[in-house]
Amino acid sequence: MSTKELVTCKSCGSNSFTTGQVKNSHAKVYPVDKIISMGSSLIYTFCKDCGDVSSIKVEDTSKF
Ligand SMILES: [Zn+2]
Repeated sequence: MSTKELVTCKSCGSNSFTTGQVKNSHAKVYPVDKIISMGSSLIYTFCKDCGDVSSIKVEDTSKF
């Protein structure tokens, strides 16, 4: 899962980004209007040099 387009860090100007996933089950996002839902993990794209997060994606939007 790599970013094709060149992303420049807003904080330090670096071009080296990587992605990470939140595995902690408490860090999932859940629909606000559904009581029973598995929720979805989040995928973070962040700068490898300073840690600035450029985007946060919901892994499985079909749960919403
Ligand atoms: Zn940076």
